[in-house]
Amino acid sequence: MRLVVVGAAGRMGQMLTKTIAETENAILSGAVERPGSEALGRDAGELAGLGAIGVTITADPLAALLNADGVIDFTTPAATIEIAALAAQARIVHVVGTTGMTADDLAKLEAASRHAVIIRSGNMSLGVNLLAGLVEKVAQTLGIDWDVEILEMHHRMKVDAPSGTAILLGEAAAKGRDVALADRSVRVRDGHTGARKAGDIGFATLRGGTVVGDHQVIFAGAGERIELTHRAEDRAIFARGAVRAALWGQGRKPGLYSMFDVLGL
Ligand code: NAD
Repeated sequence: MRLVVVGAAGRMGQMLTKTIAETENAILSGAVERPGSEALGRDAGELAGLGAIGVTITADPLAALLNADGVIDFTTPAATIEIAALAAQARIVHVVGTTGMTADDLAKLEAASRHAVIIRSGNMSLGVNLLAGLVEKVAQTLGIDWDVEILEMHHRMKVDAPSGTAILLGEAAAKGRDVALADRSVRVRDGHTGARKAGDIGFATLRGGTVVGDHQVIFAGAGERIELTHRAEDRAIFARGAVRAALWGQGRKPGLYSMFDVLGL
């Protein structure tokens, strides 16, 4: 499968270049960066520490996509919306790892998925997707007298909050309770907030250092607590999941899929 990496100079982009090089049945056919990036014109393999692989980083996504079977995109919401339209035009698989997308952005992705296979997840790792399944089950089993709080920590460069993974875990808890997350989530607390409302799903965000991604889902009952934790130690887990998603998506009918579909959970 010929794959293009968009955001090739980013933390995830470089990891994707390495992971594709290690994957049988996948080859990097193109690498794209934003106009003005210092990485333009450089070899994607060299940038990722592999040595030259003959793929030059370009600012022209359309030319790269027309020559590929799939595109893996860990960038920004604006870039992802642009790539979704181009991937649908080229009828190729689009794997979206970008987080921080608004409801409006997601509606645009949904529209593009009428013509192309799109696989989107706020976390592409096996461990977090399994954790989401557990969270749903625990939330379903326990009543709303158990308070759900989601704590996450990431490196100091992360630009969106709460993390896509925290939201994914909040959605799993909401699904288990048969409610909409948007109606129950409390994303910030500051000042005199009053007492906690039963059924709220709370979020807390920490930022600092080089933390790849820690998530904890706390079910706090009267006199006892269940804490489910995932710690990402290496970005390779997300890149491996994304490449697996691209291979899984090849030849499927157009639609918007998630890592739950890819992993058969
Ligand atoms: P980063 O800032 O290191 O990399 C993003 C790259 O995208 C940058 O190099 C930037 O120049 C490039 N970019 C921006 N606009 C572009 C455009 N229009 N065209 C081409 N390239 C463009 O960030 P990162 O840590 O690699 O994370 C990227 C995204 O992936 C974030 O939204 C992050 O939250 C998300 N992420 C998701 C998962 C997951 O499993 N789903 C895991 C890790 C990170």
